[in-house]
Amino acid sequence: MEPAICKTCLGDQVRLTRAVNGAECKICTLPFTVYHFKAHQRINRTVVCYNCSKQRNVCQCCLLDLQWQIPVELRDRVLSLIQGSEVATHEAQNEMMKRFIALKDGDSFKMGGASVTSSASATADALKRIRDTVEAAENSGKATDAAEPGRDMSSSKNLADVDITQLLKKLPLKGSLSDGTSFFLYNIDPSVAEWAIVDAVTELVGTPSWKDPVSTSVIINHTARCGGIRFKTPELAQRFINQVPAFKTEAGTTKGKLLVQNSRVHVVSWPQFNRAALGTKHTECLKLGASLDKVVQKDLSSPAAAKTTPIKKQGKVTKKASSSKDKKRNKRITDIEL
Ligand SMILES: [Zn+2]
Ligand SMILES: [Zn+2]
Repeated sequence: MEPAICKTCLGDQVRLTRAVNGAECKICTLPFTVYHFKAHQRINRTVVCYNCSKQRNVCQCCLLDLQWQIPVELRDRVLSLIQGSEVATHEAQNEMMKRFIALKDGDSFKMGGASVTSSASATADALKRIRDTVEAAENSGKATDAAEPGRDMSSSKNLADVDITQLLKKLPLKGSLSDGTSFFLYNIDPSVAEWAIVDAVTELVGTPSWKDPVSTSVIINHTARCGGIRFKTPELAQRFINQVPAFKTEAGTTKGKLLVQNSRVHVVSWPQFNRAALGTKHTECLKLGASLDKVVQKDLSSPAAAKTTPIKKQGKVTKKASSSKDKKRNKRITDIEL
């Protein structure tokens, strides 16, 4: 089986080395055939299995959509916009669900917008709708009114009317990194995948088994750009508190700064770990994200914090996405040397 690697990751490389069951897939955690290759002066390798890649239509290395070269979350948002209904890639929240999804055949089971971008005709149709929307907007000069009545279009206009005070009450916005077994994460770049956050925590605490296998231990809401993690024991949580780099805000609050890829996720204790507090409606999540941006700005306004966190949200993956807008297409490798 040929790996699904995008042109940006692969470069001109055609020589790949294969390691059967060489690693655990970052999404489904099953062992998979890893491909290594040298491109752009460094060794690159596949991090998710072929089936997970097919289900989401993403590159096995960079996890960007294979067709559009953008993060899955952004792809789904664009499609939600033009279809007027929510398109989302819901990742498994627990081990059982993970197994359940992993068993599905990626050829027929597509998650979120993968059903569109993995099909040539559906992609053509979507592109036409995007073009029509843009043209209509240009013609009328009023982007929001001219477009189809998508949920996002109307919602962004009315975001001011969305009330999220109940959500904000449940979130530790004034909290610090102090104790407890659960934590609130924010300033999560949309291009940072859940597995990357899980990986970063795993590396800090030195074991992948920090998660409770029977209850939800990780919730990430990419629209609100925040989430939560919960450790199965106080010892593991304490190890996390000790290991995660900390910074002080201007108000003197100590917060954690979890480094994931090139972005810095802010961390505070969250005794009331609660999925519903991250918002359920799309508009709530959007507004929550905007509110949290203000908290991030406050966090970073301290001279001490600014020194160690110069730029907010400058993910490597994001850069990749923007550099590839010149319509680089997925190339299924045809010439594999083993
Ligand atoms: Zn997988
Ligand atoms: Zn790639």
